[in-house]
Order: sequence, then C-alpha cells, then structure tokens
Amino acid sequence: MKTSCQPGLPALAGVISTPINRIAPQYRPAWDGFSPAAQQALASYYLPHRSRQPWLGPTRPRLIKWYCPFADQAHFPSGHRYCINVYTGCAHGCRYCYATGYGPEVAGCKKDFPRLLAADLADLEQFDVPPAPVHISNSTDPFQPLELAARHTLMTLEALLAHRHRFTTVVILTRNPLLAIRPEYLRLLQSLNCSARVPGGPAAVPGGIQVEVSLAFWREAARTFWDPHAPSVQERIEGLRVLRNAGLPVILRIDPLFPRSDARIRAGKFGLVEAQSAEDLEQLVLLARELQAVRVVYSTVKIVKPRYRPLDGPRLGLKHFCEELAAGEKLPFRGGSWRLPGQYAQAAVVEPFLEVCDRFTMPAAFCMANLLATH
Ligand code: SF4
Repeated sequence: MKTSCQPGLPALAGVISTPINRIAPQYRPAWDGFSPAAQQALASYYLPHRSRQPWLGPTRPRLIKWYCPFADQAHFPSGHRYCINVYTGCAHGCRYCYATGYGPEVAGCKKDFPRLLAADLADLEQFDVPPAPVHISNSTDPFQPLELAARHTLMTLEALLAHRHRFTTVVILTRNPLLAIRPEYLRLLQSLNCSARVPGGPAAVPGGIQVEVSLAFWREAARTFWDPHAPSVQERIEGLRVLRNAGLPVILRIDPLFPRSDARIRAGKFGLVEAQSAEDLEQLVLLARELQAVRVVYSTVKIVKPRYRPLDGPRLGLKHFCEELAAGEKLPFRGGSWRLPGQYAQAAVVEPFLEVCDRFTMPAAFCMANLLATH
C-alpha cells in the first residue's frame, strides 16, 4: 500500500504499542462509531503492537479473529465481529466447499489451540474489547469427525460461556447437528443461549445463540454425491428437531442453491446427480416452516478452484453444466471461484427459490444479509 502522502499519518517514534490512529482507512467503517476508549481496546486487541508500517490492518495472529467472510478487504462490510475456526480443513468433503480454495487438503487440529484460545480471551478481558457476535466456524465444520477425539469445539463453547459478556450472538454453523445434540453440547448451547451474564461479572449484553444447520438436499442420492462425508439428510433432520425441542433458535441453510436441468440440458450429461428439484426445495422450505426456523439462508453455488489440485470430476462437470446453461456466456471468475452469470443465476435459480419461500411464508435471506442481520 502506498502511504507516504496519506493525510493524518501519525509520526513514528520507535515502537508504538497501541496505534489507535493507524488503522488503515479501509477498515475505518468497522471502527468508527465506537467511543475513543472502545477504539483503543480494538486497536490493542487486533493491531500488531510492534509494526513500523504507517498504516495497519487487523493482521495480528489471533484464534479469535476479526471476521470478514467475503474477504473484500477494501470495504470490510461486516463490521466488528469475530470468527473462531476451530479446526483447519474439513473432512466432510463437500464438492462445492469454498474453503478448498485456501484451506489445507486434510483436516487437522490447530497447534496449541487451548493455550491460544485462553490467551485471546484473556486479552479481550484485559483490553476491555466491546462485545460482538462470534461465528463458529466459517472455514471448517466444528462438528466434523475430529471433534469426537479432539473436543476443541466443546472446549471453545465452555470458554465462550465463561466469557459470555464479551460476545453478543453466538453463531454455530454445522452440517452435523447430531453431534451438537449430545448432552454435553446441548447443555452448553442452552446455557450460551440464556446466559449473557457471568455471575459476579460485568453487566449482561444482548444476544443469544443461533444454530445454523446446512441442508441443501432432500434426496439422499443428491446428498451422497455433493456432501459425500457429511451426515445424511435424515440424520440432519433428526438433529434439527432435537435442537428445536431443546428451545434453541435454528436457521436452515439451504445453501448453496444449484442450477437445475432443463428440457435441453441435463445434469446427468456432465456426470452429475441433480442436486435440487423443485419438489426438493419445497420439502426443505416446509421443513424450515415445521421447525419454526428463524429464516432460511441461501447463496448460489460456486465452482471453487482448489488450492492444491486441478478441478476433479464433479467440479469440472458442474462448470461445464453451468457454461452450457448460460448458453456459452463466460462464467465470471472472482475470489477463486467460477459462478453462474448474475442474470441467469437470479432468474433461473434465486427467483424460483424465493417464490417457494413466499408461497410457504418462510423468511429467506441471502447469506450476506443473514450475516448483517446478526448482531
Ligand atoms: S462442511 Fe462446510 S467446511 Fe466442511 S467441507 Fe462442507 S462446506 Fe466445507
């Protein structure tokens, strides 16, 4: 970044430990609006303490990170919020997973996770950082098989409960609600939902828990093809029902939405299983209504260019399918993935889905809108 002629640049005098005025301009929208004391707390927590760079971004290594899901660092639209990616990579192996564009091939634990988590929480307390939503997890599934042995998600939920007043809404996102309904997890989720106050601690902050379960398929054949190592449709439905019966608010993520075969172009021609028929989408929206889900969340599918290998059969097939549906229009490539051209995606994928939601009076939100609605 070119900085030498930017106005308002504070003089550098050796090491500056809490550089409140050095947050780079593109991050200011998430910074402004806080009191000077809160800005100081944010600077102390997020910004590197020893950098000699004139302008700084929130690049200090943290487990509890400043979270911008769409990684457009020029705008940083999502404001002050946290993300804890409990693991690296994910064993569920979804064919459309955006994390394959930047994450490791094999799922694993983070080195020194318990100590780093405790250190970040201690810093939030020490610097008195204002509360914000926390998202678990956006680049990995916190209830993937690793959790059975490592239990880092359990540890995280316990730690968040002990520091509940530092967080507003706690969002947990998974394709495996069956693990979330085990008694030790369920108890914690319920406590996080109703307790924003630590006994003897600072005043409570608003916020509960939001359990987001992804289920984009209704037929098991589609699920096994697209989410090969994630729990079955029935297992997810069973988990969702238990979560609701336990009084937890759920969001059903019918996400991503796929393009559909038409009379001319069939998914099977590209070696694909039809992901979502019109009836499948109706059943999923009806499920959300039965569960009294807060809303359904959607986005349109992307064909992610994997970081370490070429496109495999299903991804390549999906790319060719999309190209043919778009009648030869070049697929836009942004942020490491191809996607359907905007007009086609809106008319052929999003609008039919929203029509189903309207018909069954189920609120629906695009994934970014859902994020911004979470305070
Ligand atoms: S569960 Fe989520 S993180 Fe895991 S592979 Fe599927 S999309 Fe990726």
